[in-house]
Amino acid sequence: MSNVHGHIVRVDWSLCYGCEKCITACPTDVFNIVTDRAGRVVVDPIRESDCILCLVCEIVCPVKAIDIEQKEGSEDTLQSLLEGSD
Ligand code: SF4
Ligand code: SF4
Repeated sequence: MSNVHGHIVRVDWSLCYGCEKCITACPTDVFNIVTDRAGRVVVDPIRESDCILCLVCEIVCPVKAIDIEQKEGSEDTLQSLLEGSD
């Protein structure tokens, strides 16, 4: 069963361990630190409507717990820019 929280900013609580790197990195303060039912510290993207899709949280997360839901393949566009493809 999925343990993903959020719709635009999707955090997989089975991977997140509450390191807070995404909280520090996010320019629009999307995340809150919370405790799940099992007592684990995780982040909840409660202000995901403020997300500007900068992808910084995805990049800084050490365990790839965050997935930013993007429309129209913009992640592919970013990837191709990063790879410098022509
Ligand atoms: S993509 Fe950027 S604005 Fe959106 S939650 Fe991640 S760090 Fe914050
Ligand atoms: S950076 Fe990743 S592991 Fe750390 S709190 Fe954020 S989602 Fe969880």
